[in-house]
Amino acid sequence: MKKILLLAIAASFQCALFAQPHPTYSEKVVYEGKDIVFRQIDEQTWEGNGHLMANETVYLIAGTESAILIDAGTEIPGLHQIVTDICGKPVRLVATHVHPDHTGSAINEWDEISINAADEVNRPMFMTGYKGETHYLTDGEVIDLGNRKIEVVFTPGHTPGSTTFLDKERHYGFSGDAFGSGNLLITTNFSTVILSAQRMAYLMEKQGIEYLYPGHYMGMNKETLQRLKDIAELCAQLREGEKEGEKLERPGIGGLDHVLSERGVRLNYGPTQMK
Ligand SMILES: [Zn+2]
Repeated sequence: MKKILLLAIAASFQCALFAQPHPTYSEKVVYEGKDIVFRQIDEQTWEGNGHLMANETVYLIAGTESAILIDAGTEIPGLHQIVTDICGKPVRLVATHVHPDHTGSAINEWDEISINAADEVNRPMFMTGYKGETHYLTDGEVIDLGNRKIEVVFTPGHTPGSTTFLDKERHYGFSGDAFGSGNLLITTNFSTVILSAQRMAYLMEKQGIEYLYPGHYMGMNKETLQRLKDIAELCAQLREGEKEGEKLERPGIGGLDHVLSERGVRLNYGPTQMK
């Protein structure tokens, strides 16, 4: 019963609110099971798509010494073994945020998980029963995987603890749901989203980051610098009352009862998200 409830909640976070274009991946399939398909991005990087919640995506990033898995999907039994087999390295688990389609049941296959402490507020609802240790990420922390360094950047807005991981040398990053995968659910407020989008846009320009792989990757919906600028601008207009979204007859989870659809992004917000 609890599982059904969690799946329903997860669904309302992503699937129910928008129809994504049909997936069109260019990456090569390296593993295909009933719960997840892994495709190779480059020599030491893979993306894995679950199928329960709008292609909830996990990312496996390896260096010469170790690897990290960014997110654990909704329900992917055996995930730890699958990713260890793919990269041949010990794999540490980190999460972009605490939501059921990112910190699902497979987190229990790890003795430790790293999250942003600001998402502890979501644990009672979405990360109950985890018996391992919880490590808290630090903004600006660099995760050293051997010949590869991944920088941690806090990007709250979707949730208080939403976090992005950057690979400066490879000019890309991994942003979970921070910028929405095309459908951004704002559970904090506009000001927080604006700050994160502006900060990440600045970092992308300064560090030559070309795009961010999103938490629901369909092969063609990477987050871009333009997307981040659009999100910041549209949220500022909503905050200042210069724009208004459409009111939904049936509010989504968390009372998100308005949606603004413009420039290829949907912004979902509620009455308490106004400022
Ligand atoms: Zn989420």
